[in-house]
Amino acid sequence: MTTDVVTAASAPRVPVRGGGQFPVHRIYCVGRNFADHAREMGATAPASKAERGTPVFFMKPADAVVVDGAVSYPPGTHDLHHEVELVVALGRDAPAGELPVDAAQALVFGYGVGLDLTRRDLQAAAKAKGLPWDVAKGFDQSAPLSPLVAAADVGALAPRMLSLDVNGERRQQSTLDQLIWDVPEILHELSKLYALRAGDLVFMGTPAGVAALQPGDACVARLDDVLELRCHIRAPAA
Ligand code: MN
Repeated sequence: MTTDVVTAASAPRVPVRGGGQFPVHRIYCVGRNFADHAREMGATAPASKAERGTPVFFMKPADAVVVDGAVSYPPGTHDLHHEVELVVALGRDAPAGELPVDAAQALVFGYGVGLDLTRRDLQAAAKAKGLPWDVAKGFDQSAPLSPLVAAADVGALAPRMLSLDVNGERRQQSTLDQLIWDVPEILHELSKLYALRAGDLVFMGTPAGVAALQPGDACVARLDDVLELRCHIRAPAA
């Protein structure tokens, strides 16, 4: 019998409304998926679907997920930003390259709402030098996430309003019909690059209004009255 030689952390689990928990395998993220956010970041937004090219993808480690809403202000930054996002939770596998758009919805277990926390100063430095975004995006506690809700209980996404309030003030909001790439299109594009697995999460990108968070801030992210994430930013861990 072969035994582990060290004890490693196990995969994080996200509570599911109505019971059970969702084990996290990977976290994929989409950049620049709302035109208003692309513009506020200084990028050109596509004028039409025909001009949108290919989506920007990056990843966070699975254990970046925070399910209790408590985020310590991370080290290495003076400009921690919020990005409120729809999060897609996959319930089935798809081999790489074999997921047509019209079959993609069948992979979806459910949805959550989350924050793609970003060290904006490190991201700006990486962009300026043409370097990877990992340290700006893929850090500890960078993915606070609401409980998940089954897809059938969320229904059609397009008319639903994604929003983020910080200390009671609205910072970000958009309906999901403003997504440049919708959920089946994103899963199809991801499938060209990766084998998708049950347990994968996909952060779908953020609308305009990204801004800095400070220790003591309280965030409430929502998708209408269907999904809700409450989290607070604590002082840096000692
Ligand atoms: Mn994002």
